[in-house]
Amino acid sequence: MNIITIIALTFLFSTLFIWSIVRFIIFRKLKKISTQIKSQHTPNNKFPTSNNALSELEQQVKAWSDERKAEIEQLEKLENYRKDFLGNVSHELKTPIFNIQGYISTLLDGGLEDKTINRDYLKRAEKSVDRMIAIVEDLQTITQLEKGELEIEEERFDIVALAKDVIDSQELKAKEKQISFELSNDPSHSYFVSADRFRIRQVLVNLVVNSLRYGKANGKTTIKISDIGEKIITEVADTGIGIPKEHLTRIFERFYRADKSRSREQGGTGLGLSIVKHILEAHGQSIEVMSTEGVGSVFSFTLKKAV
Ligand code: ADP
Repeated sequence: MNIITIIALTFLFSTLFIWSIVRFIIFRKLKKISTQIKSQHTPNNKFPTSNNALSELEQQVKAWSDERKAEIEQLEKLENYRKDFLGNVSHELKTPIFNIQGYISTLLDGGLEDKTINRDYLKRAEKSVDRMIAIVEDLQTITQLEKGELEIEEERFDIVALAKDVIDSQELKAKEKQISFELSNDPSHSYFVSADRFRIRQVLVNLVVNSLRYGKANGKTTIKISDIGEKIITEVADTGIGIPKEHLTRIFERFYRADKSRSREQGGTGLGLSIVKHILEAHGQSIEVMSTEGVGSVFSFTLKKAV
């Protein structure tokens, strides 16, 4: 063996030796990264064993980072939702609170002795308190519905009788607005559904109240119930102001209003339709709306037919 062969062999063996040490170190580092990824619950994250370890690990890292990105986006969405919600709630509560404060201050500053305003201001303050109660109650319902805490207790009941009961309960309000009610069904013919009676009453009340709130004097609110096979469909139609096309897809969002000033002036919280949609979704059902500006709106929802 000459000296050149010895040098070449020494070089070869030391290169191989150094390469295997480097490989071992890299492999250990990669394993650490992989274990780290594994601890983040990434699926499909076995440590690569093939020679293609680097590219496999690269894929794992990419999948892991995509997952984190989606998580961050979701958290950002929730954070924006939380901010929006808090902003909306404080905005809604601010008006009645400031109103009450104004009336009380005026009364304390001598208005209490002024017979021309004292009763009137107290009545107005009472109206603002009622408004705050309505907002808080609607907020409570919507929070329960969104958290899935609201239990739906299905029972068999006649929706025609319920519609009649809701109409009776809103008769006075309708008279004030010069709006008449019509139940298109024969009240003695029952349509039995399987649903949470209390919650469906809330749905009907919200729809009927809206038909009065956005109705026109000398107008009409009609409730029609029909059998469509496995389901019963209930329609609440009005001859009111209608909803402009561009708002139609958004009116079921919480605090969304097509006509802000009219809603507030009429005591609306901007949560009614959102509650309606949640209740129907909790029943596995849906609600549709058709509306023509200046002509009127029809809200229709389905319920499971009782056996
Ligand atoms: P609000 O308390 O403001 O009535 P809702 O969630 O019940 O809130 O309704 C959302 C918005 O949809 C209302 O502000 C109103 O602009 C519109 N809207 C709902 N029902 C009707 C209707 N029957 N006719 C016209 N507009 C309606």
